[in-house]
Amino acid sequence: MDLTFLGASGEVTGSCYLLRTDRARVLIDCGMFQGSATADLKNRRPLGVDPASLDAVVLSHAHIDHSGRLPLLTKSGFRVKIFCTPPTIALTELLLKDAAHLQSEEADRMNRRRQRRGGPTATPLFDEQDVPPLIKRLTGVPYAKDVEIAPGVRLTFHDAGHILGSASLTLTVSERGRTQTVVFSGDLGERNTVLLNDPEKLPRADVVVLESTYGDRDHRDLNETVAQFKQIIVNSAHSRGKVLVPAFALGRTQTLIYYLAQMHREGSLGNAPVYIDSPMAIAATRLYHSHSNLFDDAARELLRTGNNPLTLPQLRLSTSAEESRAINALSGNAIIIAGSGMCTGGRILHHLRHNLWKPETTVIIAGFQAEGSLGRRLVNREKVVKIYGEPILVRAKIETLGGFSAHAGQTTLVDWFASLAASKPRVFLTHGEQAPRQALAAALDARFGARPELPMLGDHFDL
Ligand SMILES: [Zn+2]
Repeated sequence: MDLTFLGASGEVTGSCYLLRTDRARVLIDCGMFQGSATADLKNRRPLGVDPASLDAVVLSHAHIDHSGRLPLLTKSGFRVKIFCTPPTIALTELLLKDAAHLQSEEADRMNRRRQRRGGPTATPLFDEQDVPPLIKRLTGVPYAKDVEIAPGVRLTFHDAGHILGSASLTLTVSERGRTQTVVFSGDLGERNTVLLNDPEKLPRADVVVLESTYGDRDHRDLNETVAQFKQIIVNSAHSRGKVLVPAFALGRTQTLIYYLAQMHREGSLGNAPVYIDSPMAIAATRLYHSHSNLFDDAARELLRTGNNPLTLPQLRLSTSAEESRAINALSGNAIIIAGSGMCTGGRILHHLRHNLWKPETTVIIAGFQAEGSLGRRLVNREKVVKIYGEPILVRAKIETLGGFSAHAGQTTLVDWFASLAASKPRVFLTHGEQAPRQALAAALDARFGARPELPMLGDHFDL
């Protein structure tokens, strides 16, 4: 058996690993590289394996950095099954359609510029027509069910607690009379994340591929973050301004709605309308509703007692562009959750343009903001920002919350590994930049003598 690292090796995007035996070839995730100057180039490079030679693909969860190169497989003659959990099927369709749409827009924008200047035509990596043939290949396997996915390779999914349907996976691989257990952590969630279970711990492994996104630190305390969020909402009711919350459609939006619904039950929310101003976030929230059997105990207990954890009386779902624009005409206190999460596009931009200059406005930054994004400029307290090319004065209160994260911090990563440590597995750290994964390697070595390996893109290991 051997393992080749085809992405997320020394970086956080592009997850893709190839496991080969003398009888089978299985690809684990096929994610898009994102964010860096070389990302587009890496996405367009040949994958490193002939898609027609694969026996199966396993998808750990729907995020684009794990699923975004899958349409390239189906475009190049791939005809076998892609195994994932049932919620991941619908979420992948939602996210890939959105990614296709964004790429087409980006290509059009670049081509308008290139027409004026001269230059080669830009093409999207894939378009919306490439998504349905891929979705047909997705095959749902519930958590804890053991299935044979290729000759001599069995798969079991475990709840990773990162987003709805996210999974760690165990592959039981038999080759020439020898059986080995290979565990991929997938992206692991933080403990005590609302709605989701804590990441499931696994009993043993011969090989572990572990994510290391936040391998060098812990997040700020969740309880303090929640208290801070609630206080900001209460204060905004006094100042009678709008509260703008840029948020990712999947995961963060549902977390915020959960806490607003909790405030409503506690009697601290008041009557301000709460808008989800994003068709994608509305669709993602519906998918959470339809898979509520996977919620954690606390959320299922709420449901059992007639309290839906993802709704509240003043919740307004704004689907069309007209509905979104109509929010601008409203005066007084209102809470508006809209994309994109880093204010790099989407409906949050027109809300910011209309409200940033008003001192009664509050902007809540509840997620990571990349260098250069409008969200980061707001966090950095820039006095004037440009939106649609127009300079806008920032008089709004900018509040930054550090404790909501979809990823496990270092302590949770180390604790997750603890149950596997006794079986003395070979450990590879991926899905983290160099500094965080070195820090996690040092922590795992200090506590368990684990000596993790830090593969780079294209590295290949006999197991
Ligand atoms: Zn993820």
